[in-house]
Amino acid sequence: MQEEVVELMLGELDFDPDALKAKYLEERDKRLRDDANDQYIEVTGDFSNYVDDPYAEVAAREALNDTVEIVIIGGGFGGLLLGGRLREAGFDDIRVIEKGGDFGGTWYWNRYPGAMCDVESYCYLPMLEELNYIPKHKYSFAPEIMAHTQNIAKHYGLYENACLSTEVTDLTWDAEEQHWIVSTNRGDHMRARYVAMANGPLNRPKLPGIPGIDEFQGHTFHTSRWDYAYTGGDPSGNLTNLQDKRVGIIGTGATAVQCIPHLGEWSRELKVFQRTPSSVDVRNNRPTDPEWAAGLHSGWQYERMDNFNTLVSGGDQDEDLVADGWTDIFRNLTGIAAKQASRKLGRRLTSREKGMLMEMSDYQKMNTVRERVDAIVEDKETAEALKPWYRQFCKRPCFHDEYLPTFNRDNVHLIDTQGKGVERITPKGVVVDGVEHELDCLIFATGFEVGTSYTRRAGYDVTGRASEKLSDKWANGLKTLHGFTTHGFPNCFFLGFTQAAVTVNVPHALNAQAVHIAHIMQEARDRGATTIEATAAGEQGWLDEIKRTARFGERFRAECTPGYYNNEGKLDNPNGFFTSGYGGGPVKFFRILEQWRAAGDFDGISFS
Ligand code: NDP
Repeated sequence: MQEEVVELMLGELDFDPDALKAKYLEERDKRLRDDANDQYIEVTGDFSNYVDDPYAEVAAREALNDTVEIVIIGGGFGGLLLGGRLREAGFDDIRVIEKGGDFGGTWYWNRYPGAMCDVESYCYLPMLEELNYIPKHKYSFAPEIMAHTQNIAKHYGLYENACLSTEVTDLTWDAEEQHWIVSTNRGDHMRARYVAMANGPLNRPKLPGIPGIDEFQGHTFHTSRWDYAYTGGDPSGNLTNLQDKRVGIIGTGATAVQCIPHLGEWSRELKVFQRTPSSVDVRNNRPTDPEWAAGLHSGWQYERMDNFNTLVSGGDQDEDLVADGWTDIFRNLTGIAAKQASRKLGRRLTSREKGMLMEMSDYQKMNTVRERVDAIVEDKETAEALKPWYRQFCKRPCFHDEYLPTFNRDNVHLIDTQGKGVERITPKGVVVDGVEHELDCLIFATGFEVGTSYTRRAGYDVTGRASEKLSDKWANGLKTLHGFTTHGFPNCFFLGFTQAAVTVNVPHALNAQAVHIAHIMQEARDRGATTIEATAAGEQGWLDEIKRTARFGERFRAECTPGYYNNEGKLDNPNGFFTSGYGGGPVKFFRILEQWRAAGDFDGISFS
């Protein structure tokens, strides 16, 4: 039966699925390690210099001991969207506190050469219509995105009263005065009626726990703190200081894929230390067509975002407005393919049939990704090592047109570690398979902390109404109502991956959360209420829903090669990247929020 559906949709298979599956499992097994997330080093203590801000001079200022109505923590898209929606709702007294020297969040920090968005810019850059702005390319480069974040801040007056280069160190609820006391690393102790935590999901760089990592005598940095003073150049490349340098980079994830072409172009010699190859498909970036831009009607951006979001959530649309690598993957690997099959068959597919169809489409898609490597990379051994052997969503899919050709350069060498990772770091360089590779500069493209506790990643704890710590309350996993509020912590809101929907286009989800939080705060203002709190029953209802819709199948994740998507192979981690998201998908999640607002009874919230 399953075979009939597969043949109907994919034709006769030109590969052996059993052999492929065996290969995937073999590659996974090479990489599984007992220490999972513990293999990484936290960037504190001796390693804290890896998170210093290389982009800002921190000016001295007086510590603040004042009162504002709303403190938003984080000046990235989450904080900006909330700030904007609150301004639109008439809230004036807002202070954004941001660790970086300016607004931008992930786009403030990640300025490495070649950084660009992976989701189409017309959907990804929020508030384009509000700001009357059209991105220059289908996929924007980082400086344009950072400038856009700053323009949002200007447009909504969020620079006024902002505290930049400031890190929150503690939030404590003062039950008597009914406000939060916000402490920072600048000696501030301010009071705020409301606080909103928009810390970002991938905000803390992590380092690999490679023996000898602290012994290297050359220059090092993490990609999210790119040292242009050392490399020369800027995010568009031109890394002239590397022309006489032997450079090494550890990591081949989405960040490395974008910066390696520039490192290859400018370094005297580049060694790429790879543990697991990324899946790298066609990018096909292009400048914005001015005629298309001129013809856009009012409301175009939210329509486009919805169209994209529906397709990448497995839903159907008459037209694929974005038509890129993301929508292509989802069209093949989700319910859309199953719907087409059932139309052809004139009946619904069984879940086994659906599963089989998706698995076979996945093999087929990954075969094309691997064939692309063969077509581009000239050296056969290098090409073989660059092929990913796992299912499409085991790791973040990448799209790039210059990454693979970089390995055809004479000065670029792939040092494949056969899934084992770098053996050790010495004062002079990096050892793989007993061979020491001498380097002048070693760059860590090793990603961000995932799977550790929410408060550890935030960098501060929160003490609620009954002196309860958020770190204790969430010790075994998040507990929220709709992801934005938790019982016992009045007037405290969360934006991001906190039991809300996980979406490919993250700013879309952040906007939905911002609209929702602003709506509730408006209601509190209209009622003359001073506190907003999730009820215990409201929170429990959402926890039950999260459990009921738990999405990413255990089997799928268990069979994946390790990475942050599957908690490095430890599926029972309560803080995992996908563990706590709403499994019903973003389309349903946004509808839940809309219907909840339309009902008007604020079910699960108490105002006082
Ligand atoms: P990742 O976590 O995706 O990649 C880290 C890399 O470091 C992996 O290749 C990993 O290998 C490797 N690594 C870790 N430890 C070792 C070791 N001991 N030896 C050798 N290699 C090691 O981080 P990124 O910064 O690349 O990306 C993080 C996320 O940020 C992305 O998934 C994406 O969500 C987002 N991002 C988005 C972009 C965009 O939208 N434009 C661009 C860049 C990032 P292994 O795979 O084996 O663990």
